[in-house]
Amino acid sequence: MAIATINPTTGETLKTYEPLSDDALEGKIARAAAAYRSYRRTSVQDRVRWLRAAADVLDADTDAVAELMTTEMGKPLAAAKAEVGKCAKALRYYAEHGPAMLEPQELDSDAVGARQAYVSYQPLGVVLAVMPWNFPLWQAMRFAAPALMAGNVGLLKHASNVPQTALYMEELFRKAGFPDDVFQTLLIGSSTIERVIRDDRVVAATLTGSAPAGQSVASIAGDALKPTVLELGGSDPFIVMPSADLEAAAGVAVTSRNQNNGQSCIAAKRFFVHRDVAEEFTRLFAERIGALTVGDPMEEGAEVGPLATESGVQDVEAYVDDARAKGATVVVGGSRVDRPGWFYEPTLLTGITPEMDLYAEEVFGPVAALWTVDSLDEAIEIANSHPYGLGSNLWSEDEAERAQFVRDIESGMAFVNGMTTSYPELPFGGVKQSGYGRELTERGMREFMNAKTVWVG
Ligand code: NDP
Repeated sequence: MAIATINPTTGETLKTYEPLSDDALEGKIARAAAAYRSYRRTSVQDRVRWLRAAADVLDADTDAVAELMTTEMGKPLAAAKAEVGKCAKALRYYAEHGPAMLEPQELDSDAVGARQAYVSYQPLGVVLAVMPWNFPLWQAMRFAAPALMAGNVGLLKHASNVPQTALYMEELFRKAGFPDDVFQTLLIGSSTIERVIRDDRVVAATLTGSAPAGQSVASIAGDALKPTVLELGGSDPFIVMPSADLEAAAGVAVTSRNQNNGQSCIAAKRFFVHRDVAEEFTRLFAERIGALTVGDPMEEGAEVGPLATESGVQDVEAYVDDARAKGATVVVGGSRVDRPGWFYEPTLLTGITPEMDLYAEEVFGPVAALWTVDSLDEAIEIANSHPYGLGSNLWSEDEAERAQFVRDIESGMAFVNGMTTSYPELPFGGVKQSGYGRELTERGMREFMNAKTVWVG
């Protein structure tokens, strides 16, 4: 895949980049390793100051960075601005709470015959982050903020279609006053990742993206005995029971499925609606989907822009055509939009059967698949039959149903009467083929830390 900015609204190639040469890549890794030797000894207070400065830089750069993201991957401009704000919030969250997360954890010294026993949380070293284009700033920040607070050094291999946002990330930390080379962007193709993971100076890797990319990174890192965190795809269930507030559920369903032009790992993608309310919910859902404004994401009022890549819109089209050919009902949408760029209509499908390709896959675009079910048991059973287990949603006012859902749904996150969202204050991650490990909170930070046991006699 060429490293290039191609505007998905027009299909126009705006800027292309040569991948780093072998020598240039070697230089960047060497500088990262050198930076780590001194950065790991910087004080927590200095790191807090730099993180806060980075948040201030983001605040000042909001409009420019938002426009860059919208140009590179097509998200509505208002959503891009909100993403920048969320990144500033994450930086401030780690500035505020990071110091406490780095405090040593006292253990029972008497029990082990010591004067003192504790866990000391220490950084690991240079960590490689392989990131996707869908939330180009947020996905990378979710890694960077805790990593830099912890004293690690970051190397970012961003998706090839967001090179300018990737370069901005490096510039951001430089502008904020972090020491040189603690966060560098590597403009490389995915075939060069193996070399970086196998380099002795790189100690760990994290990847957010598709399951095949995760498999590749995890197997190389496993062979090299290096830890990984993987945040892969999702096909989150959204279960609506008779006691639910249907208006509220339908509103959130539309936002969850269509935000970011339908390209979010934690979007609700499979909707399981109890038969007693299926007709009413489907009507509300379809009405709202049909009312979404599709258009140029730079223009105010556009709620759904183009898909980020040409192959992305081709994939979505193929899933819908396959489902339709195998008997699904297209309640609303179901076609490309007749205009330049990679637009696809927000779509609702019913009558989903296991033969359809989308049944056990992730549709990365504005396509909702709806099942009518007779019980919560049935909804959970179908939901759990999917290989992914990232987020999940239940709409119910029934306490027993909520308890059953939290107990039985196979997912890393369970949201009741609300939208699955990532917050710096909540752990984020999945089970099954959605990956392993957690991001955000102190859990995310400690994924790439040495919890060193200290015994003092
Ligand atoms: P990819 O998983 O291909 O890309 C994500 C990142 O991984 C990019 O930096 C990419 O680099 C890199 N990458 C790609 N292939 C490999 C590999 N074999 N080894 C190591 N790194 C690799 O996502 P796509 O953009 O192709 O999207 C495909 C599908 O992935 C989507 O339809 C969706 O289902 C899922 N996806 C999920 C995301 C999520 O948030 N969970 C985000 C993005 C995609 P490069 O760009 O250079 O190929």
